[in-house]
Amino acid sequence: MELSKRQEAIMEIVKKEGPITGEQIAERLSLTRATLRPDMAILTMSGLLEARPRVGYYFSGKTPGSVLAEKLHNIKVGEIKSVPVVVPEQCSVYDAVVTMFIEDVGTLIVVREGGLLEGVISRKDLLKTTLGGQDIHKLPVGVVMTRMPNVITVEPDDSVWLAAKRLITHEVDALPVVRPVRDDAGSLEVVGRLSKTNIARLFVELGEGGG
Ligand code: ADP
Repeated sequence: MELSKRQEAIMEIVKKEGPITGEQIAERLSLTRATLRPDMAILTMSGLLEARPRVGYYFSGKTPGSVLAEKLHNIKVGEIKSVPVVVPEQCSVYDAVVTMFIEDVGTLIVVREGGLLEGVISRKDLLKTTLGGQDIHKLPVGVVMTRMPNVITVEPDDSVWLAAKRLITHEVDALPVVRPVRDDAGSLEVVGRLSKTNIARLFVELGEGGG
């Protein structure tokens, strides 16, 4: 977050003299309270300053960087995830390619009965099998997918920061969003999909000053 010259000046005054009233800050800068109001709103909404009635403004101790980091840790995967596009393990490679085109996704999630996670299949997994010269109408995706327990996942309550970190660390484009099945050792129910597109979209929204 870039602060304007005036906002920087306000921050300096509050750091030195806080708690301090809006009236006093305006005086120090030889401006009216009304002129300062939008800046004070931005500084308090962004979490850099805190305001308490009858006390005034004081420095929250946060930097613009730490405010952004806190935001990324507070937004949950569940808030930005997409619906999962799933196929069964017996689905042919041919049908998987068709599904990718129809659904306009780059990663399919392979599930067994009950929507339980079995694996994932990417564009390149499918391309690779077409090079092998096998009959893609007969070959099931189960043969070429990345299989559990090697699938990297996230849960709805995980932060978007953790999800982005996993996408980068494991060099994959998407993660199944899962919930552990109660009373079942190890099975994961697929409840969504989180891709690099979701992260890019959030990035744009944050950049527009929403969120
Ligand atoms: P592409 O292969 O089309 O570039 P990815 O980079 O997502 O797409 O996939 C690279 C490899 O990682 C593929 O073999 C794929 O099966 C596997 N993969 C994709 N997503 C995951 C995931 N969430 N967990 C584990 N492996 C994955």
